[in-house]
Amino acid sequence: MGEGTTGRPPSVEDEETSVHEPLALLLAHLRSGPGGLTHREAERRLVVFGPNVLRRRGKRRFGRALVRQFVHPLALLLWVASLLAFVAGTPVLGWAIIAVIVLNALLAFVQEQQAERAVEALVAYLPQEATAVRDGVRQVVPAATLVPGDVVIIDEGDRISADGRLLDGSLEVDLSALTGESLAVTRAAGPTDARAALVEAQDVVFSGTTCTGGTARAVVFATGAHSELGRIAALSERGAPEASPLERQVRRIAWLIAAVALGVGVAFLPLGTLAGLSLPDAFVFATGLLVANVPEGLLPTITLALAVGVRALAVRGALVKRLSAVETLGSTTTICTDKTGTLTTNSMQVLEVWTPREGDAATRPVREVMVACNTADLAGGPGSVDEGDPTEIALLRYAADTGTDVDLSRREGRRRAIFRFDPRLARMTTVDDTGESDEQAGSPPHPEQLVVHSKGAPEAVLPLCTRVLDGAPRILTEADRARTRAVQEALTARGLRVLAFASRVTVAPGGRRGVEFAREEVERDLCLLGLAGLHDPPRPEVPAAVAACHESGLTVHVVTGDHGQTAAEVAREVGLRADRIVTGTDVAAMSEERLGELLAGGQELIFARSSPETKLRIVDALRHRGEVVAVTGDGVNDAPALRRADIGVAMGRTGTDVAREAATMVLTDDNFATIVAAVEEGRRAFDNVRKFVLYIFAHAVPEVAPFLLFALSGGAVPLPLTVLQILAIDLGTETLPALALGREPAEPGVMARPPRGRHEGIIDRRLLWRAWGLLGLVSAVLVLGAFFVVLVSAGWHPGAATGPGTALHGSYLQATTATFAGIVACQLGTAFAARTDHASLRTVGIFSNPLLLAGCAFEIAFAAALIYLPPLQRVFGTAALPGSVLLLLLPFPFIVWGVDEISRWRRRRRRDRGPAPR
Ligand code: ADP
Ligand code: MG
Repeated sequence: MGEGTTGRPPSVEDEETSVHEPLALLLAHLRSGPGGLTHREAERRLVVFGPNVLRRRGKRRFGRALVRQFVHPLALLLWVASLLAFVAGTPVLGWAIIAVIVLNALLAFVQEQQAERAVEALVAYLPQEATAVRDGVRQVVPAATLVPGDVVIIDEGDRISADGRLLDGSLEVDLSALTGESLAVTRAAGPTDARAALVEAQDVVFSGTTCTGGTARAVVFATGAHSELGRIAALSERGAPEASPLERQVRRIAWLIAAVALGVGVAFLPLGTLAGLSLPDAFVFATGLLVANVPEGLLPTITLALAVGVRALAVRGALVKRLSAVETLGSTTTICTDKTGTLTTNSMQVLEVWTPREGDAATRPVREVMVACNTADLAGGPGSVDEGDPTEIALLRYAADTGTDVDLSRREGRRRAIFRFDPRLARMTTVDDTGESDEQAGSPPHPEQLVVHSKGAPEAVLPLCTRVLDGAPRILTEADRARTRAVQEALTARGLRVLAFASRVTVAPGGRRGVEFAREEVERDLCLLGLAGLHDPPRPEVPAAVAACHESGLTVHVVTGDHGQTAAEVAREVGLRADRIVTGTDVAAMSEERLGELLAGGQELIFARSSPETKLRIVDALRHRGEVVAVTGDGVNDAPALRRADIGVAMGRTGTDVAREAATMVLTDDNFATIVAAVEEGRRAFDNVRKFVLYIFAHAVPEVAPFLLFALSGGAVPLPLTVLQILAIDLGTETLPALALGREPAEPGVMARPPRGRHEGIIDRRLLWRAWGLLGLVSAVLVLGAFFVVLVSAGWHPGAATGPGTALHGSYLQATTATFAGIVACQLGTAFAARTDHASLRTVGIFSNPLLLAGCAFEIAFAAALIYLPPLQRVFGTAALPGSVLLLLLPFPFIVWGVDEISRWRRRRRRDRGPAPR
């Protein structure tokens, strides 16, 4: 992008940092006003200034990322192998191995870059939005279209998308994106201190920072690369990505392989030398050991499997921000979910309004509070949609449907103060003009009458009430309170969300306008007006998802701000056990141990009336117990819990920008079922990595065994397989089947088994046993059998010369080719065995992974080319195999697969009989 080259109006750029000058001057320079820009002007400026986006400058640390691939432990092993090949006097082989290293590194590098870019593209897919005033109307616009001069409205939870100066209002801002310190600072409109550094200016807000509280209007003065963040982004390079658990495991695997190769070498080389192995032969042996053991395609294949997982997740409505999230998802053991909007559809409807005195007219004061104490907007004309908190939309709709005046401009005009809904207090209050002052215009000034309108959870509102509207206001008695609570009980038992409404007439403090109100001063001595019960139907997909959770051993706790009984009722409707209701107050009073014990009980809990702090404590306690926790959140205060959880889940539709930024995964549909789908996808991806690790590891034994035989016999048995042939298998014939295993559909019952343990790695004893002890050993026996059959039938006896020019040389070449072809045949069987971990092949179907079938066809074709094409024969030392040998090899795949099939069958039988092995 040609930053700095675009022509811009001299009035904005040329005069040095106009930011510090008085606001009026700044507005003049920006050719804007408190009313913002027109739509046309904004469009025009967009062309001039360019879109409000940050392009990361090219520096992707390509160099370093590439070098990393060359010094990876697995690559280092290959470097050693190539060195040994040179020393052994086989320079062609040495170069071939170097070529393999380069090829491998490039492949892994490209794969990694692509996967990273794919994840970035997904994150970018979440559109950043901003609220701007255009043509005098506030509207939601893509943040990328903001231009200098735009007037934006910043609200709690918003990500600030451009640098701006506050016109009015005040904000609490988290500057950590800019300064690194996560300390909330206050920014308010007012005169600027011209000497202060820009970052410290009291009325300036910056792109990339987030608003954690308050509301304000600001005029944008810098966008995109010209913003403070843009400058910083241009200066700093991106940090190196942290190694994911999988990467760390792969590193461990690499060392394991190195140890095995070294161990085998140390154990067998002296024996071989004793048996008469020459020095060059010893080097050939060592080279073979290394090359056979190193799983060449492993890294790119793992990355690919995860990238495939990320894409599959995106299709199902879950955007993850890190590749490693896929594997973490697979091991999730506990989900802490919100109720509203996640388990339910968030399309609320007022079903019931109760007032102390019966009668339709009695609900009028309640409806007035519904309208006044509300920040939502109902859809105006065709095409527009309701905006705001679904609870408030429902209240507004009910008021409108019952004939209450819901004129928004009147509502805004009367409002003198607002105390927004605070999930911790569970209530909201406004202070409004009575609306009668206009009619008395011209009358002598008198202390202005105001009305306090409050609504919120009954527990939060009732204690503030001293009177009740029972026809006329009267003292609220204990009996009234008890009656109200009984009504609330009855409503919550039906799964309804209950709000209480209250009001109070007051006079403006000091009788003048423009004074500040204190929340404690306002929210007292209220008069109870009534209750409303709202219904929020559960999402239809959730019961099945909950059932899947239970089947797969996942525990689901509901953490909600709502009333316990309401939450429990909804939870039961979707099939959650809701064993026990614990309130936020209960949790606050609990010690860490007590909370840990509670969570260890194996119960599914409802955490009701809970605050973001409660959520954080629950997450901490669960993680302390070794659970892998996915937690949902939408508010600003949920950010710490989202960060602390293994998987923080934010909502794409209703959540705040702050929550989305703190989360690891964003749900595009806000749906609980999507979390479960993501867990399944994670398990599948992890399983598939295991599948191809099994497949790649299995060939090590038949590849190593020939070299062992060669060394142990002191060269009396000629080398049954050449190193180049090993490379042909590892990097040629096997690549596509291995990749295809990474695309294997989920094994039946993937959600019918307990979650994998937090520390359960890809490679465990069972996998090694299956790869080396079972599949590998059977293959090795078969393959060496084929080698000897061919060699002996040509008249060979131990010690007979087979070198070039000898009578047996042709048969020797055929025999090594039989080894090579034998390994390929065995790996075909292994590929089908590796498709499942415990299920039978029949249950998944032989043809259910067409990619694998194609991969196998490729494997056969590649091997055939190596065996029958003369130019390739010369390079790889192969010879055409007669039909009789092919016939001999034919049963190999079936034997290898069959042995594993029987072993899996026995394992299933054992598991069905005895208690679960895990
Ligand atoms: P959740 O989202 O977990 O269901 P909230 O924290 O949003 O819970 O709400 C908790 C309680 O606060 C609700 O039961 C309701 O009584 C009250 N409440 C919810 N939204 C509002 C609002 N906009 N204004 C006033 N009270 C509200
Ligand atoms: Mg809510």
